[in-house]
Amino acid sequence: MEHTLFVRSFLELQWSNVLKFFGNDEKLTFVLGTSMVILTSFCVANAFFMFLDFTGMPAFFHKYKIQKDKNVPVETRRFLYCCVVSFRNVLTSCGMIYLFYPLMRAVGMSCTSPLPPAWRVLFEYVVFILVDEFFFYYSHRLLHLPALYKHIHKIHHEWVAPISIAAFCTHPVEHLVSNVLPIFAGPVLVGSHLCVAWVWLIMAHVDTCLHHSNYHLPLLSSPQFHDYHHVKFNENFGANGLLDWFHKTDVGYKKSIQYKRHVTYYQLKPITEIFPDDNGKQN
Ligand SMILES: [Zn+2]
Ligand SMILES: [Zn+2]
Repeated sequence: MEHTLFVRSFLELQWSNVLKFFGNDEKLTFVLGTSMVILTSFCVANAFFMFLDFTGMPAFFHKYKIQKDKNVPVETRRFLYCCVVSFRNVLTSCGMIYLFYPLMRAVGMSCTSPLPPAWRVLFEYVVFILVDEFFFYYSHRLLHLPALYKHIHKIHHEWVAPISIAAFCTHPVEHLVSNVLPIFAGPVLVGSHLCVAWVWLIMAHVDTCLHHSNYHLPLLSSPQFHDYHHVKFNENFGANGLLDWFHKTDVGYKKSIQYKRHVTYYQLKPITEIFPDDNGKQN
């Protein structure tokens, strides 16, 4: 009990320092603070992979590549184009925070109320994951309708072997409907404390970059599920597999070697060696 109180007062103190940093200005904390959280998590999540993709170094990491030898290194023009489009989209996310500030306040999102208890935070994260899956799955399936695909989603699927920064290499409409909406809808629906929303935003940005990286590294979340979507195109539309299971849009995937490899593992030996395919190959 004492330990819990200590952790709580420590977190309260850190959060009050954050508020002080923004001059205890609520709007500035929401708009500038959230933009800084998005930009920082995007840059930090991508920095290492961008270097690896652009230079092909350090070569030590090649063995963890899911689609061997694809985009190692990435063609410079393609890489730069992807960076520009992705940064434009992430800056758009920041602009959306400014526009949606009145809505976030109207639904009860706050940065000055006391931090919520642990049970409430856990409950909210479960809601965020389910809401994210709902909006991402159905918007993504819509984007695969031929009329929308050729005008919008095709840009993202030009990356059959994706790279981390290609997570946000999309048409602006797709970015708003399929990236921004699913991530922000959860905190808005439950009226989260801003601190809880920030941690969720960091996790969501890091995860989506990791899941496009095409590198399945030890200790980290597995990118196999979404990588399979980029290769096969007509399966694995969701973020975590729940609605793909419900709609049976993961039948081929469940029989694949990628499904077996879709785990977080804790050794230096690459997953392709731990689970070679039926022919003993590590592709
Ligand atoms: Zn798609
Ligand atoms: Zn993707």
